[in-house]
Amino acid sequence: MKNRSAETATILQENLSRCTLCPRRCGINRTAGQKGYCGTGPRPVISSFGPHFGEETVLVGHGGSGTVFFTGCSLRCVYCQNYDISQLHQGKEITIEALAEIFLRLQARGCVNINLVTPTHQIAAIVPALLKAKDEGLRLPIVYNTGGYDLSETLAMLDGLIDIYMPDMKYADSSAAAQYSDAPDYPQVNQAAVRQMHRQVGDLVIKNGLAVRGLLIRHLVLPGNLAGSEQIFDFLAEQISPHTAVNVMDQYRPCFHADEYPPLNRRPTKTEYETALACARQKGLRLIQ
Ligand code: SF4
Repeated sequence: MKNRSAETATILQENLSRCTLCPRRCGINRTAGQKGYCGTGPRPVISSFGPHFGEETVLVGHGGSGTVFFTGCSLRCVYCQNYDISQLHQGKEITIEALAEIFLRLQARGCVNINLVTPTHQIAAIVPALLKAKDEGLRLPIVYNTGGYDLSETLAMLDGLIDIYMPDMKYADSSAAAQYSDAPDYPQVNQAAVRQMHRQVGDLVIKNGLAVRGLLIRHLVLPGNLAGSEQIFDFLAEQISPHTAVNVMDQYRPCFHADEYPPLNRRPTKTEYETALACARQKGLRLIQ
């Protein structure tokens, strides 16, 4: 496994010279200073890290989830709640060694997992940092916390390195994905990614109240049913697993450019949220909060 992981790190690093790590497939040379859609170079760029107590209960425990927020994103959601990090690129470039040290510091502080927030476009830097940290004693489950716009081929290289996949499923409909996240292929890319993730880690496993392995879907209910909640739950129940763990989230609020895109200029109504939640329940999915 160790040799295969080192080989994966090399392949990912080589990919940077003609980057096709995410579905944008920019094909540019990040090691030569070129920047693609994500606006990120070859080295890690982070905005913050620390124990986080606002995640799902099964990720928090007593010590908190050891979150590392990566700067930049391969999506451009008009309503992004972290737009200053994802689209305005607030953050600091660090080294792979420093990132490994951060993972170890989070473990030393008592965090119950390492939670990689928006890792997709920085995965070539994250993997060697994880390998170094694991060599130096990192034992915590690794959480891949993503917007869900991930290439199945890139995810396949992470097999054995990631314990918990936590992707968003944002849209079932291509035109909504195009209009609000500039990603018309989001639904099919996202479904292929979720298939790959589940193939690797299976359904969510919880021990002593903490998630240790598996797939945990996040679905943010959007106003006017823009997210296509029912189709997403159908897909999960019928094509992934009827036991898929899902967090049906009610915290959407207008941010960034949302006011220009009604009905994204309002919160979902109580009825809209409860309809989506009832639908997930009716499909038999495992609800997590
Ligand atoms: S990771 Fe960045 S540079 Fe690479 S394909 Fe995606 S958006 Fe383009």
